[in-house]
Amino acid sequence: MILVSACLLGLDCRYDGSALQADRRVTGIIDEVMIPVCPEQMGGLPTPRLPSEITEGDGNDVLDGISGVVNSAGLDVTVEFLKGARVALSIARIAGVTRAIMKERSPSCGVVHITRNRESIPGMGVAAALLKRAGIQVVSSDRIIEDYVRYHRHWK
Ligand code: SF4
Repeated sequence: MILVSACLLGLDCRYDGSALQADRRVTGIIDEVMIPVCPEQMGGLPTPRLPSEITEGDGNDVLDGISGVVNSAGLDVTVEFLKGARVALSIARIAGVTRAIMKERSPSCGVVHITRNRESIPGMGVAAALLKRAGIQVVSSDRIIEDYVRYHRHWK
């Protein structure tokens, strides 16, 4: 079993409420049971919701209490982000999951990059950082997509 950001699997949990189609570049390469998690929804935030950003540093700084998360209206949503990260970790532990594929550039799920002021910057989202600290191998959705593209180019 593997944990996967729910929006990659086609669940309409993105901040703007849009329903993405399941990303076949992710689902097509994973040959095991996928458990969808959306840390922002599980933290109690509605869908649709305003986009949020980590104010300083990255998710690790939020976990350490030296940064926070605010939405585009300036409302502090740090508590919700922390709660969602903890729920995602609880689900991972209940399921005995050791790996997770997380959506890149999200303030919750980003593995290598998050977004600040609409720019992609290096850093981890809050949930991805917590899962990694718990010993779960956290893999970027970009990495999976690159592998998929490389594999299919090779076998064409
Ligand atoms: S990136 Fe993560 S928090 Fe954002 S919609 Fe997808 S699963 Fe939810």
